Amino acid sequence: MGADVNFADVEIKTGNLDASKLEISDRTKLISPVHYSGQPADLKEFSEIAEENDLKLFEDGAHALGATYENKRIGSLKYSEMAMFSFHPVKHITTGEGGIIVTNDVEYYEKLQLFRSHGITKNNLVNESPGDWYYEMQELGFNYRITDIQCALGISQLKKLDTFVKSRKRIAKRYDEIFEDNPYFDVTLEKENRESAYHLYPILLKDKFTNHKREIFAKLRQEGLGVQIHYIPVYKQPYYQKLGFKNDLCPVCEEFYKREISIPMYPTLGDEDIEFVKDKLFKVISEFD
Ligand SMILES: *Cc1c(COP(=O)(O)O)cnc(C)c1O
Repeated sequence: MGADVNFADVEIKTGNLDASKLEISDRTKLISPVHYSGQPADLKEFSEIAEENDLKLFEDGAHALGATYENKRIGSLKYSEMAMFSFHPVKHITTGEGGIIVTNDVEYYEKLQLFRSHGITKNNLVNESPGDWYYEMQELGFNYRITDIQCALGISQLKKLDTFVKSRKRIAKRYDEIFEDNPYFDVTLEKENRESAYHLYPILLKDKFTNHKREIFAKLRQEGLGVQIHYIPVYKQPYYQKLGFKNDLCPVCEEFYKREISIPMYPTLGDEDIEFVKDKLFKVISEFD
């Protein structure tokens, strides 16, 4: 879009964008927080900052389908103008590929429809119509259309969303119980007025283990645990390095990256699997005590 991006730091307790760390300049147009791991970011605080500085607020809800903030689902748009959801296979529900954007602004709605379909429309014509065949390409758009076949899958998946999210919450609650006060790692904090949809279950290694994270990670995988790290700080990616971002731009994010491991989280994870995860985690990490 020709816009520049900048990054702001996160909170160590949630991994979410930290409202107190935003640097707003007179070129800033938009704040776009991710609801990391499925826990809604501080929408109220972000919307206050947006209002004071005449900015837009767009939510990246890819982790947060089915999550709630002040008892309303993410996508209700009480505090923002847009929220996006992804239906990539790893997300809560899938259409194979694809996603949706919800908006409460008619102008954005029409722009998005143009953008999705080559910038072509039969509505709100710029020139006078010479006949019924007429259409106009008004903007540079692309083919970002989801197929009807994918939508059919999405509609049937949507019916299962509540049971999927319920399972994820049950698993998270069980993890919370068995990991309470353990000597190896902390779990993230669930803040007030919101409920996570638990796309991920991140754990944060205690400081004394972080120097061994590479070996811990490799051993967990050897033991059969499908662990992953979410995420490499975006500004460390070669594309952003080429744009001139410093390698240690956000100190809290650096710490989060050093400590974080995502452990298995999916709706069919059973009680025995949860015990297996715990046993392997405690066994592998305790070797480095
Ligand atoms: C998956 C994901 C995306 C990208 O979704 P696409 O469907 O690939 O466009 C964006 N943001 C977050 C946080 C995601 O998890």
